[in-house]
Amino acid sequence: MAALPEACEARSVPSTQLRGGIPLFGMDADTALDVVTGRLGLGCPPERNLATFLTTSIEPEAQRLYRTYLNHNLVDREQYPAIDAMLRECVGIIGSLWHGEPHRVAGSATTGSSEAALLAGASLLRNWQERGATRRPNLVMGAGAHACWAKFCRHWDVEARVAPARGDSPSLDPDEVEELCDGGTIGVVGILGSTLDGRYEPIAAIADALDRLQERTGLDIPMHVDAASGGFLAPFLDPDLAWDFRIPRVVSINASGHKSGMVPPGLGWVLWRGEGDRNQGLGVRVNYLGGDDAHHELTFSRSAAPVVLQYYNFVRYGFAGFHAVHARSRGLARRLAERMRATGRLRLLGDGGELPVVAVTARPPVALRELAAHLAERGWAVPVYTLPPHLEHVEVMRVVVRSDLTPASVEELATTVEEFVAGAR
Ligand SMILES: *Cc1c(COP(=O)(O)O)cnc(C)c1O
Repeated sequence: MAALPEACEARSVPSTQLRGGIPLFGMDADTALDVVTGRLGLGCPPERNLATFLTTSIEPEAQRLYRTYLNHNLVDREQYPAIDAMLRECVGIIGSLWHGEPHRVAGSATTGSSEAALLAGASLLRNWQERGATRRPNLVMGAGAHACWAKFCRHWDVEARVAPARGDSPSLDPDEVEELCDGGTIGVVGILGSTLDGRYEPIAAIADALDRLQERTGLDIPMHVDAASGGFLAPFLDPDLAWDFRIPRVVSINASGHKSGMVPPGLGWVLWRGEGDRNQGLGVRVNYLGGDDAHHELTFSRSAAPVVLQYYNFVRYGFAGFHAVHARSRGLARRLAERMRATGRLRLLGDGGELPVVAVTARPPVALRELAAHLAERGWAVPVYTLPPHLEHVEVMRVVVRSDLTPASVEELATTVEEFVAGAR
């Protein structure tokens, strides 16, 4: 730890004199700790935070590992070759979970699925440009696509060609895919696990539609799967569902290590089927860290700890452990969904059977925003939002059943919802 030089001893009483917007003299570490935690508090306790998909707790051994590697720079491959080897091994493991060939897949650890999506999109765009582009490029996706795809399209100047939502689902309809694609289409994004309702998009059926398009027109359009939430869940719970590299048209996949990969915030993965699918132009050579390596990420320096924890989780839980943890979440989500449905006033958009997410709409006199406020008074954080364009009249409440939610807290939540619904008039 950096200690202060003696000539500049910190005070135990914070100084009120400012310079450059910060206190002129520092304070001792204990006092600073109190000042900061006093300001922040801890927020919603994890077992009551039903809003986030992200990991909210890790076991003590993982915390120790995290602290140990927090100050190791992931990008410093020369200094920490073992960490780099571990990262490569993770890419191979994830590649096999997604039915790629472990020694063929190419990929990166990223800060999250958003950076992963930007890289996957950039690769699709470059590959398309190299096929002789003459028009404005577009990327086809469903109405439920995450904001990271809008970011990619905006910053890379690609048209976001969003399929209009049908019925009450934001899911990409395979029948619309053929109509939306043309010679400017750099790729189609399918989502394995919608952020909005927890449903899987029909990845195989979308690929079939693209096969038909190719037979008819000769256009060969690649697919990317955004498996931010489902990438570390479907391999364990839905082994027979082909959504991954088993589908020849899928060239790349992203997932968030910090969602169902059970790593604390700060980790995503992007994998390509093979080095030939990842556009060579993504790599930038860097020689001043000692090696002469191509870097494929958008960011540079960051902590190695999340990658170390991803590997820890693989060896700690094993295949059976990942299955057990996620199966429990899915089971809890399904039971919660069933109890909400049984109230007769809540309708299920997502029943927990795919991502462990329960998404409901309400019939009068039940108002979801009042229900969420009622839950908030009891300390539960549960979001209510409207669906994207064409479905903006549909208001949804969503509960994410994460691995650290206990059966008892889900039970308590269900009872609270039932009582509120029964009392609504
Ligand atoms: C969460 C999410 C993202 C963004 O992932 P981050 O890891 O938070 O950057 C992208 N797509 C989907 C489908 C998501 O659920």
